[in-house]
Amino acid sequence: MNKKTIEDIDFLGKRVLARFDFNAPLIDGVIADRTRIVTALPTIKYLLEKGAKLIICSHFGRPKGKIMQEYSLKPIHKMLCDYIGDMPFFNEAIAKDTVEASHKLKNGEAMFLENLRFYKGEESSCDDFSQKLADLCDIYINDAFGACHRNHASIAKTPKYAKESGAGFVLKKELEVLGDSLFGDVARPFVAIIGGSKVSDKIGVLKNLIKKTDAVIVGGGMAFTFLKALGHSVGKSLIEEDKLDIAVEVIKTAKQKGVKLLLPVDVKVAKEFPNPIDKLVEFDNVLIDQIPKDMMGLDIGVGTEAIFAYEIKKAKTVLWNGPMGVFENPVFDKGTYAVAMAVAETTENNGAISVVGGGDSASAAVQCGVASRVSHISTGGGASLAFLEGKVLPGVACLDDK
Ligand code: ADP
Ligand code: MG
Repeated sequence: MNKKTIEDIDFLGKRVLARFDFNAPLIDGVIADRTRIVTALPTIKYLLEKGAKLIICSHFGRPKGKIMQEYSLKPIHKMLCDYIGDMPFFNEAIAKDTVEASHKLKNGEAMFLENLRFYKGEESSCDDFSQKLADLCDIYINDAFGACHRNHASIAKTPKYAKESGAGFVLKKELEVLGDSLFGDVARPFVAIIGGSKVSDKIGVLKNLIKKTDAVIVGGGMAFTFLKALGHSVGKSLIEEDKLDIAVEVIKTAKQKGVKLLLPVDVKVAKEFPNPIDKLVEFDNVLIDQIPKDMMGLDIGVGTEAIFAYEIKKAKTVLWNGPMGVFENPVFDKGTYAVAMAVAETTENNGAISVVGGGDSASAAVQCGVASRVSHISTGGGASLAFLEGKVLPGVACLDDK
């Protein structure tokens, strides 16, 4: 990795602005999942131990440049104080008082800023706002991987105004795993499993990975656009008519590059999409050339589970992005479960590096009980996708090189 990290910088007595992604789910004012706070702790504790004067900041929700109390970071601040001890909270991130307070911090002390998105300048990436944020610090640390694909002030501009900048532990790990393991010196065979609902969400990922992998496995709703492009009748399954040509192009590129492209050979079908999502509907397991006109495919079939698992278990590098079916429903979670187990097994038995990307895939990994059996679950939904598409992340590009 060519970017400076938290381990390359001397923090003693320096004011350090650390940007996190505390965009945790909030239900009735209570934080429903503290993962994002817990994952930030190693960076926070390290900076304090190294004698930094720490200024903690983040965004939260989409207040669109207005002060909205439902998007206040106060509940996160309170929770963080439980972990690291009390620290003052500042309603105004860029006020004169706030800058003065940053200077008054003692080594190893922290302060916490209110939601940066209460300012319009954050999302519009305003120069003045970026500069004012930078006035709070000597050194800028980014540990907000989930926001690194955004061209926002505190992500993509403030670091340029700071004297020194680098990646925190969360970002460092993401860049090492995604960057080095998947796109650097890759252990082969490299198998990518791509699923989820839509081809349109994953076109960029598919196009990029088809050139770099040895095998691409396509499941989930998007598989039906591929199956249709190959001439199958897919009944009422999810189809993106305007993406049929992309499917044809991906199939062609795979052939040209000698990359194995695996599609379902059988699927689980039902008459209706489960509504509510966990409604137990009747299903059938059919071959892909026998999908009834009035039914839709909602999971890969049992034959396909075995074929996909066989391919995955040969891999030395695996990327999994997108569930194989409507895994939120217990009737249609088997395909996703089979893939999850195969990914865990190749990690344990074949020494493979396995990476799970995408918000729903991360939940699926947890639901299938394999979260601790894979090498890495990426913390960024959109950011991981952008990375897998081969895009340069603005929040990473602007950090100091080593
Ligand atoms: P990720 O967040 O991991 O990138 P996506 O958001 O692309 O994943 O896709 C997840 C969604 O895809 C899930 O909500 C799941 O129900 C849906 N899905 C999977 N298979 C199908 C299918 N055959 N038909 C309709 N939706 C599907
Ligand atoms: Mg998703």
